[in-house]
Amino acid sequence: MKKTTTHLSPSKLYCDVFGHNYQVSKKVTSYVKEYTCKCCKKQLTTNSNGHLTELTPKYQEINNLLEDMYNRRTMRLKNKSLVTAIY
Ligand SMILES: [Zn+2]
Repeated sequence: MKKTTTHLSPSKLYCDVFGHNYQVSKKVTSYVKEYTCKCCKKQLTTNSNGHLTELTPKYQEINNLLEDMYNRRTMRLKNKSLVTAIY
């Protein structure tokens, strides 16, 4: 993978002046999402209070766990509805 260096790039300057241009980069659960700035690649996530916070390695870890739990639950629900659809 290519490494991107973000320090003092023109896009970073743009963000400082005009603000970040965040887009949802990953849906962790139905209410927790990760956002990435289109310009400088700065990442945010929804924390447990529902507020946006910087996506630190700690939060990334929490989100991975949340995503895993969420996927397992939705998969189980899907399987259940599949079974009821068959019978
Ligand atoms: Zn930015």
